[in-house]
This record gives sequence, C-alpha cells and structure tokens, in this order.
Amino acid sequence: MRTAIGVDLGGSHVTAAVVGEDGTIRSQHEQDLEDLRFESVIAALDTTIGMALHDAADAVAIGIGSPGNIDAASGAVLYSPNFGWENAPLGEALRKRFQVPVFVANDARCATLGEHTFGAGKQTKDFVLLTLGTGIGGGIVARGALLLGNRWGAGEIGHHQIRPRDGFVCACGKIGCFEAQASGTGLIRHAFAVAPSFPRSPLLDVARDKLSSKKIRRAAQAGDQHAVAAWKNFIGDLAIGLANVIAFTNPEMIALGGGVSSAADFMLDAVVPIVDELTTMVPKGTTQIVVATLGNDAGQVGAATMALRGGLAAALPVAV
Ligand SMILES: [Zn+2]
Repeated sequence: MRTAIGVDLGGSHVTAAVVGEDGTIRSQHEQDLEDLRFESVIAALDTTIGMALHDAADAVAIGIGSPGNIDAASGAVLYSPNFGWENAPLGEALRKRFQVPVFVANDARCATLGEHTFGAGKQTKDFVLLTLGTGIGGGIVARGALLLGNRWGAGEIGHHQIRPRDGFVCACGKIGCFEAQASGTGLIRHAFAVAPSFPRSPLLDVARDKLSSKKIRRAAQAGDQHAVAAWKNFIGDLAIGLANVIAFTNPEMIALGGGVSSAADFMLDAVVPIVDELTTMVPKGTTQIVVATLGNDAGQVGAATMALRGGLAAALPVAV
C-alpha cells in the first residue's frame, strides 16, 4: 500500500504522521514550536518530517496543512496572521530538503478532506467540516469536490460576520465574526461579557487567563447560573452560523471537530433545535449535524491524502 507523510502545522507544535492510502496512521512524530519565525518552523518541519521518512522510506509524497491563506498550487503561505507571515515560500523551502513531492494547503481544508474521505463525512457528497478551537476553521465539499475558491479562500466560514454591531473583535480585525462568537475563545468571551450580572459567580474566582472553555462548559452542565448564561449566548451564536452554512451550501452533513467531542451531546441537544428554527429555505432537520470522528488526526490524514492525490489543485475536475 502506498504511504505519504501528512503534517499538521499548528501554532504551538508540528505533528508529522506516516499515513497509508486507506487513511490509517502508522506512526506519528510531534515537536513543540519554540518560535514562529519562518526559519525556525522550517527547522521543526525538517526534523519531524525526517523522523517520519525514517519510518517510511518508501513514502511517495509529503502533504502539509498550515494555517492561513495558502496558494495550494505553489505551496506558498500568502497570509497567516497566526504566524505573522506574508508570502512565505513554505513549499519551495521544503522541496529543497526532500526528494519526494511536497504539497501545502490550508490546515482546515486538509482536515475537511480527511474527515470527508475517511471520517464522519465518508458517505456524503455535500459536506462541511467546522473545527471549533481557539478559532473556527472550515471546509466545504460540494458534489464530492473540496471547494478551493478563486484565491484559495473558499471555506473561511469562521470569518463571516454574525454580530457586526455588538460582537467581539475577531483576530482578522472585523467585529462579530462567527469565529469570534462561537469558538472556544468565543465561549470565554461570552462568560466575561455576562459576568457583571453574576458578581458572586465561582467562575470569577478563577484567574482570568485560566478560565477555559471546558471549565465554562462543565459549569454549565452542572447548572451554574453564570456559565449557563454564557453557554446560552454561545449556543445562540453557534446556531446562527450553522444555519447560515446551511443557507450557503445546503450540505447533507455538518461535522463539528476540534475538541468538542467530550461535550458532544450537551452541545448538539442545545444547538440543533435553534438551527432548525433558523432554517427557512430547505426542509428543517434535513442537515445532519454531528461530531467529527477523526479528532486531531483529521489534519494529518487529510494532508497525506492530498499528497497521495498529487495536491488539491490536481484533484479539481478538469474543464472540457
Ligand atoms: Zn474574522
């Protein structure tokens, strides 16, 4: 069976896996990123990919999922606010180091390819993945093909505004983006926003920088009034974004990934009825909203799958 190296490049660490063409992970190597300068990240990629290639010398290609707006034809990172990069020649730098083809694409698009090919979406033709973490990453599969867009930006669902007047400031600079309102970070912001109404809240005993989305969700599950109020606002914003996704793309399934699996039922039970209320132009309840199944492996599996297919651009249907 052919194998490829699938790499997930995150803001705090890089993971390189040996992945078979059946989507199975054979081995994984992880390294923390000390700093995000281009040369340091290339050195960390060099080390982890080198270890993966040591496990699988016959790997036919390397696929890398990176945050930001990526030119998947050249492998250049055109713009990445997370890394502070502009026009960084990631693909070119790695092609000089390795003998096999190197492909680079946006990390959430890679995760979508992985989740659609081997995970929750594998029986679907019209599919959307949303990864809810510190931000919201996304990817859209339409009639079986991953949408790339004119400038590689299709699927940036996290940056459609749902509260442009009274929302939180997004990392992209806009107000009230879906990501600012309905990511893990969004839940924390909702907790601070409603805090003045709950001056005796036990959540406020936690140091400001230690208050995690998980703590708030658990407190909401336990019935804490402050957490319940924050959770309600968060779920309301999540539902608006999901209903918008249904209006834009009418998928068969939306899978939610990125650390939500432990809260799955609690979240889905709350959000699905509101999404149904907000769904107007297609029959209510006809979009399955589920939890993604590949977890943190989706990005690596998808990046390797992209590499085995010869890149995202190569997988596009050819015009006749
Ligand atoms: Zn934004």
